[in-house]
Amino acid sequence: MDAQVQLSQQVQTQTIQVPELPDMESKSPEDVLKWALDTYGKKVGLSCSFGPEDVVLVDMLAKITKKPKIFTLDTGRLNPETYDVMDAVRQKYNIKIDVMFPKTPTIQKMVKAKGLNLFYDSIENRKMCCQVRKIEPLNRALSKLNAWVTGLRRQQSVTRTTMKKVEWDESHKIVKINPLIDWTREQVWDYIKKNNIPYNKLHDAGYPSIGCAPCTRAIKPGEDERAGRWWWENPETKECGLHADPTKLAKAVQPAQT
Ligand code: SF4
Repeated sequence: MDAQVQLSQQVQTQTIQVPELPDMESKSPEDVLKWALDTYGKKVGLSCSFGPEDVVLVDMLAKITKKPKIFTLDTGRLNPETYDVMDAVRQKYNIKIDVMFPKTPTIQKMVKAKGLNLFYDSIENRKMCCQVRKIEPLNRALSKLNAWVTGLRRQQSVTRTTMKKVEWDESHKIVKINPLIDWTREQVWDYIKKNNIPYNKLHDAGYPSIGCAPCTRAIKPGEDERAGRWWWENPETKECGLHADPTKLAKAVQPAQT
């Protein structure tokens, strides 16, 4: 059995007691982050893809603590502009960033079986690529934490409308903290401009949401802000698995054959 599928099944079968979580819906993002740091200390980390929401959270965290725990997933298919903002943020805040890479043997096996651009062929292939390049590295990062912080907002997607500021992440069996969940896109950009935060320059070229280069395109005026992500798929399938139900994902992901 493929190592990624085994890992996914292990995550699903763990029995972990769900902690009682406070209702933080009326709290500011900074208060939510302070609560997270007070509660989880070094066991809480920001999952940062250097999108606009993520750089806002880096700025907020850096104003609360000198050593925020921040990790990112380098899928190997990112745009050069994403690496630029990664280094710009690192230098501005003088912080360390853990870069998580996929496992080389698994990538090689998948590419040998399906090709480099397998994601265009089917949703199953796309989810397999996300599993290998994003989800397995994410699971590795989360296995060392008790809580993770994300830059999710309810307005971003139909799949995110019911998320809370602090919630139990059944997929990964840890606490998930979404301090900006009720923010608008305008609030995010106002904060970026006011605080002079580095951001991905592709946002100035019509890319409101940026993922891997081959799976992201600029959007047209009036389109949904995530319309440029996996644009060939229906909105309901547009999660890479980082924030999706793993039981649904596991059905879609088949092990790569040599
Ligand atoms: S976004 Fe595209 S290239 Fe990136 S991991 Fe998913 S399918 Fe692969």
